[in-house]
Amino acid sequence: MTTVDGNAIAGTLRTTFGAEMTAANGTCAHCGASGPLAELRVYAEAPGVVGRCRHCESILLVIVERHGVSCVDVSGFATLEQPAHR
Ligand SMILES: [Zn+2]
Repeated sequence: MTTVDGNAIAGTLRTTFGAEMTAANGTCAHCGASGPLAELRVYAEAPGVVGRCRHCESILLVIVERHGVSCVDVSGFATLEQPAHR
């Protein structure tokens, strides 16, 4: 299955979270690696969108849209922080 990076789902993230999220910093709950969502390994062809840790392949982010409602699972992150805006 082909993978893309988090920039490819920038529009989906913006729609889901209501904000620009590619620069948000996430920490993997499994291996502790952290980085911007833009660096996720994304499987956009899975049922919905699956974002995996670039280092350990743990699932960090799942977004599934069903009947017009987006279901978001970010439980793979230990932390997910939006950079401060001015
Ligand atoms: Zn990891």
